[in-house]
Amino acid sequence: MIKLEDSYKRVHDYLRISITDNCNFRCTYCMPDESYEFLPPSHLMTPDEIFQLAKTFVELGVKKIRITGGEPLVRKDFLEIMEKLSELPVELTLTTNGVLIDKYLDDLIAMGVRSINISLDTLNPIKFHQITKRNQFHKVLQNIQLCLKAGILTKINVVAVKGEVEKEIHSFIHLTEIYPLHVRFIEFMPFDGNHWDSQKVLSASEMMQIAMEHYEVVKLKDEVHETARKFQVKGSKGSFAFITTMSNHFCFECNRMRITADGKMKNCLFDKNELDLLTPLRNNEPILSVIRESLKNKKPFLGGQFTNEFEKTDAHAIVNRSMIKIGG
Ligand code: SAM
Ligand code: SF4
Repeated sequence: MIKLEDSYKRVHDYLRISITDNCNFRCTYCMPDESYEFLPPSHLMTPDEIFQLAKTFVELGVKKIRITGGEPLVRKDFLEIMEKLSELPVELTLTTNGVLIDKYLDDLIAMGVRSINISLDTLNPIKFHQITKRNQFHKVLQNIQLCLKAGILTKINVVAVKGEVEKEIHSFIHLTEIYPLHVRFIEFMPFDGNHWDSQKVLSASEMMQIAMEHYEVVKLKDEVHETARKFQVKGSKGSFAFITTMSNHFCFECNRMRITADGKMKNCLFDKNELDLLTPLRNNEPILSVIRESLKNKKPFLGGQFTNEFEKTDAHAIVNRSMIKIGG
């Protein structure tokens, strides 16, 4: 098989596909603002097009596909998309804000989905409303419980914005003591319109210090290509981790590629270049050369736009679409 290798000999076998830029939440760190204009439906990939692109990538060695967005579950044809993708010989998974999971969980399990990442940035309902602009805290919590009951490997994504998350770190870690939950604190990343500035980044080492004020922590082994640095409180059912994009990137082991909801290939979350896969697919033209071109141009780390000295990073100097447009 012809591997999807870039100029730095990194083999790419993990594809993240955004199926919509639409969302039923309005998270402050993700959505530019309420006047954001969603992509017109004709610009979105259809279920068939998503399948065709995914199939091509699988034939090129992709072993894992994550469906994301925007909020993937708001697409009316979400199940149709998942059903098609479940025919492919890959590990199929998704990232969701969790609010519609109850509607789809049985079908997802029947299709072979075994793990789900759910975003939850606070354990306080009032704060949840402030962050997401939606009053759905209890629904998300119930749906996390449903996933656990169903034996789904459930990871909780917490975006660590400085000044917002410090007081909740112990409570999130406590959840991992009593439930088989895997909490991942994600360092706040810069995207168009999300009011990022370096002062708002709470680094993994700062979070670890807070964790260790209260807990005796052991290091767990990180898998190859794992973006999360994993830890556990001794005797816990779950674990916690830090995704250290800003303070200590993991790019030298990167195996990830992305397709945006409008069918553009992004070789990195931060690369400013995107190559169109959807137009050639619609015109019956070859896309393999486009995929290879995109990978050939992949930068060694962080899309070539900044370094881990995030304190020196000027948000205005970074060229990128908003997170909701790229797909997380
Ligand atoms: N709507 C789904 C959700 O919220 O899980 C999937 C899409 S969302 C863009 C994917 C992930 O990106 C979520 O876990 C979200 O918390 C994370 N995210 C969004 N903006 C971010 C930012 N600026 N920095 C770090 N993580 C971010
Ligand atoms: Fe929507 Fe997810 Fe972005 Fe929140 S993080 S606005 S739930 S896409």
